[in-house]
Formats: sequence, C-alpha cells, structure tokens
Amino acid sequence: MDLPTLWYLTVGTSLVATAMTLWERKAHGQRSRPLGIWAASYVVFAVGCLLAMRREAFPGIIGPALTNIVMVLGYLLVLQGVRCLDERVRIGRCAAVLIVLAAAWAIGGEAFPVFFWTYVASLPIAAICGLTALVLLRSRAVKPLRSRPIAVAVFVCHGLFYSLRATLAPLLVELYGEHLLPVLAKATMYEAVLFMMAMPMALLALIREEYQAQLLADSRTDFLTGLRNRQGFFEHGAKALRNADAQQPVCLLAFDLDHFKAINDRYGHDAGDAVLKLFATVSREIADADGIIGRLGGEEFALLLPGQNSTAAGRIGEAVARAFAERAARSDGLNLTATVSIGLAEAQSNATALAELLSAADLALYKAKALGRNRIQMAGATGVSEAA
Ligand code: GH3
Ligand code: MG
Ligand code: MG
Repeated sequence: MDLPTLWYLTVGTSLVATAMTLWERKAHGQRSRPLGIWAASYVVFAVGCLLAMRREAFPGIIGPALTNIVMVLGYLLVLQGVRCLDERVRIGRCAAVLIVLAAAWAIGGEAFPVFFWTYVASLPIAAICGLTALVLLRSRAVKPLRSRPIAVAVFVCHGLFYSLRATLAPLLVELYGEHLLPVLAKATMYEAVLFMMAMPMALLALIREEYQAQLLADSRTDFLTGLRNRQGFFEHGAKALRNADAQQPVCLLAFDLDHFKAINDRYGHDAGDAVLKLFATVSREIADADGIIGRLGGEEFALLLPGQNSTAAGRIGEAVARAFAERAARSDGLNLTATVSIGLAEAQSNATALAELLSAADLALYKAKALGRNRIQMAGATGVSEAA
C-alpha cells in the first residue's frame, strides 16, 4: 500500500460523494440544507487531503496546521449537517473550535511539530465524531430510521480510531520505535478511504429513508383534514383491534355529515371544506388518546374506540355531534347550520374484523339518517337518542 495512492483515493471518494450528495439534493428539497452542508464538507475534505499531500511545501508548521484546521472544518460541517436535521445549527461554536485549534497550533505546533501532527491533531476529530454520533442518537428526525445505527456506528468507529491514534499510538511508537509511524500513516489513510465511502452512504441512506417514511405517511393521511385516510384508518384500526385486550370492549362510531351537499351548494366548496376541517378538529379534541379517527371519504368519518363500551362511546359520539354543531353555528366562526348522524357498533369479540364492525356501524348510521338525521343510533338496538 502506498501512501499517495491512498491520499488520492480519499480525494476521489470525497469528490464522488460531493457529486452524489448534490445530485440527491435536487430530489430532496426539504433536506437541501443538510445535503448542501455535507456536500460542502466533502469538498473541504478533498481540499484538506490535497493540502496534506503538499504540506511540506509550506514554511514551518503552516502546512500541517492548515491541513488539520481544514480537516476539522470538514468534520464540523458534517456535524452541522446532522444537527440541522432537527433545525439546530451552531456556527459560533464551530468558529470557536477552529480559533482554539489554530491558537493551539500557533502556541505548541512549532515546538512539537511531529507530536502535534501525528497525535494532537486527531483529538478534535475524535471528539467531533463522538458528538456527531450523539446528535444522531438524540435526533428526533432520525430516530425511527433503520439506517440510524449504521450512521452512528460509522462515526463511533471513526472517532474511536482517531482517539486510539491520539492515545495508544504514542505508546506503540515508544515501545516499537519510529518505524511504526509510516505504518500508522498508511493505516490512517486506509481507514480514511473506508470512512469517506461509508459516511456519505450512511448519511444519504438517512435522507432517503426519511423521505420514504414521509411518502408512506402521506399516502395514509387525508390532505384536507390531516386525519388518517381510509387506508391509514384500516391499517391502524385493524392493528389496534388485533392488539386490543380480549377482556375490554371495543366500539366504533361511523359519522356522516347531514345534508352536506346542501352546505356546499349554499355556501360554496371552501365553506364545505372548512366544515370538514372543523369536524376533524372537534373529533380529534373529544376522542380519547386511544381513539383512532379516520376520514373514510367525502363527509364520512369513523372513530374506533378501544377500551370503551357502548355507553361511553355513545357519550363521546354525542359530545362530538354537540360540539360540532355548536362551533359551526358560532357567529364568529362558520356561522352555519351543520349536524352529523352517527352509527355506533360494539365488537362482539376481539376477533371481530374492522370491516365487519364498520358495516354494523354503517347500518346503524343509515337508520339514524332514515329517522331524521342529527342523532346517534346503536347497531342492533332499537333505542334512538337525539345527539344535539
Ligand atoms: P346526507 O344527509 O344524506 O348524508 O346527505 P349529504 O348531502 O351529506 O350526502 P351526499 O352523499 O349527497 O353528499 C355528499 C357531498 O359531499 C357531495 C360531495 O360534493 C361533497 N364532498 C365530498 N368530498 C368533499 C370535499 O372534500 N370537500 C367539499 N367541500 N365537499 C365534498
Ligand atoms: Mg355520505
Ligand atoms: Mg352526508
């Protein structure tokens, strides 16, 4: 293994990583900032490598000091890119680190040039990598992603390598002599090539996975109300039903806004949309934390209530209907008459399928409509109560 080849390889992989990251940036507008910062950091690494190769051409300690400062700037940029996944960038701290590092080189670099270049230069790199791993572990944006452990491992391994270089390497050189230094230099650059491939891949994987997760969530969300759409409701509801305690009741409320077409015709489509959003807000506010609400289509909604018996579910349905009608009628709000009809069904066992429960609630809902609307009707029961 020859050292210049390894340096050139690191420059090459840095530039390829820059190009790939910039290309990916075009497709991920919402993450253009971290991707832009990472692309810039890879350019900085390439410049640092070129400087390192030519460091002897500079007078005194300027070459190694400049190389180390540029490299540390690269790592700081990577860290800032990771930080900005959660909207926190600390430019001031980066500048402070670089100033302290430059001052350290100015004070001690001249007296101990080999010691500084070989060992001390590694410490800030180890520290920044450790911090990057920590930020990744704490990041809310990255938490649910499958590739988070990979990204963390890449930074932990690189940080460990550099902390060993700063601590263990001097002892080894003391024990086995100076001829170990070129071996250490080659090992460092070999690891650098691997890092410059693994790090950009891991960071790009995070962004791609986050985007996929967002697409998946969007495909299960109703754009207008922000509630789960039919698919989201069925997926989540079926899971909740499967996991429900067999000893606990489960109820489902099926809602259909009354004469909604007439609201659209009379007040316009935008007012109709506002009514749908109001219903979503009200039902979200009134349903308990375990309640699963979905917009099944048009002006039809469903609320699955694990752990609630029909009496409690009926009360929740009535409360939703009352609050919805009251808030729609407010003169400082929509200022219109809007009511809802509700069908209520209780699961007979935890083996009851969601579709089955929904069709039972739907049948009750048709009854509520037929009986004059603005009411709640229990599936399989004859009693009817006025909702509002
Ligand atoms: P009923 O009391 O029998 O339920 O009568 P209805 O008028 O509520 O029911 P119908 O099924 O006749 O009308 C539903 C209307 O909902 C028709 C459709 O234009 C309207 N609609 C569906 N989706 C939307 C939407 O996203 N926004 C608005 N503004 N209207 C919608
Ligand atoms: Mg309808
Ligand atoms: Mg309707």
